[in-house]
Amino acid sequence: MTTATVPRVRTKTIAMRGDSVEILRAAVFHTPKNTFEYPEALFAITDGAVAIKSGRIAACDDYIAVRALFPDAVVRDLRGGCILPGLIDTHVHFPQVRITGSLGHSLLDWLDAVALPEEAAMADPDHARVVAREFTHGLASHGTTTSLVFGAHFADATAALFEAAKHRGLRVVAGLVLSDRLLRPELHQTPDVAFRACRNLIENFHGRSRLQYAVIPRFAFSASEPMLEVCQSLLREEPSLIFTTHINENPDEIAQVAGLFPAAEDYLAVYEKYDLIGRHSVLAHNVHTTDSQLQRLSAHGASIAHCPCSNGALGSGIFPLTRHLDAGVRVALGTDIGGGTGFGILKEALQAHLMQRLAAQPRVLSPAEMLYLATRAGAEALSMETEIGDFTVGKAADLIFVKPPAGSTLHTVLAHTEDPERILGAVLTLGDQDSICEVRIEGDLIYEGRP
Ligand SMILES: [Zn+2]
Repeated sequence: MTTATVPRVRTKTIAMRGDSVEILRAAVFHTPKNTFEYPEALFAITDGAVAIKSGRIAACDDYIAVRALFPDAVVRDLRGGCILPGLIDTHVHFPQVRITGSLGHSLLDWLDAVALPEEAAMADPDHARVVAREFTHGLASHGTTTSLVFGAHFADATAALFEAAKHRGLRVVAGLVLSDRLLRPELHQTPDVAFRACRNLIENFHGRSRLQYAVIPRFAFSASEPMLEVCQSLLREEPSLIFTTHINENPDEIAQVAGLFPAAEDYLAVYEKYDLIGRHSVLAHNVHTTDSQLQRLSAHGASIAHCPCSNGALGSGIFPLTRHLDAGVRVALGTDIGGGTGFGILKEALQAHLMQRLAAQPRVLSPAEMLYLATRAGAEALSMETEIGDFTVGKAADLIFVKPPAGSTLHTVLAHTEDPERILGAVLTLGDQDSICEVRIEGDLIYEGRP
């Protein structure tokens, strides 16, 4: 099938600016604190409201209280649905939208047979611009308001991603993907060329609109020591950049990296040698880790992007969440498109719940913990928790309105319960692209689902 089917972008400011206040009335859920540390931190109310003023959260409470604060505000009655903070995806690959669903592989053979040929197609900027529209539509239509994105191995294609995100009004942290060996020759850059290309992209996009730049060696397997030095130089020049890469995803990958860096104590040490790991670092996977690496990740304040659908689809393994939490390592969620199974962060939260039931150290993730992982944990991983991730007064009004279509199973469940925790559990279990009615960033409508 070759027909382009991405709907036209509809971005408009509907939260009134100036002194005007808009109140959204619905069931409201958010987690203003880390629910693993504060189990009672879930805010859940069936007849709740969020007040928006100048793109910020002006109030979040039960409807009567919010109405009393702003008696002259315009009220939109959205009862029958739920308002959640915008979802946050901390690991996703822009070039891989069209290969989602290529099941039956393990990491290294999937890269070789499926992912890297698709990444090579990004050499064509026209192709990249079309995929960028498909990708940003995928994010927005699933309620993902903020994401940490692996761009392409090509600067023009990565610029196309930034342009598409800017056009769409999304919060995106992204960067050129860096590799200089062992992939396909057309995906390799020399460290010098990579350095100049990154600087140019940083100059054009970092801190512009809702965009930020990330330094992204694909993984230690494909990045030589001179390329890791480039990453170190970029981060030293501009300390506000995010650093992201892959780590400890698959036993074969780990063995190959150990062979390529014989002097390194372990996989993490490869990155540590170049000062790449700190509070600004988000490392994808870490499925097969060690106590030493967990302790060091915790000491660095680094975060792990946990991608449970990808871990299942590529047979990578079951993520040791309890060991991460016990060690004090930050964990957020990622979809890992196209190794993962779709753009839905709600689905990742569910998959995390299911896989943790089966883990070596099993645990039962509560709906509050699942919501935290899907929202505020991502904001913390990206050091954006003072701006987004929950509905604390003064934060940006990044939110989604979830209302299931009539006839859906979620609609049936919600029609028969008033219990907030059961409502949230059902949304996390059954919520999908069809359930996302409205997506706002700083109050601006960036996606509208069914009328
Ligand atoms: Zn990945």
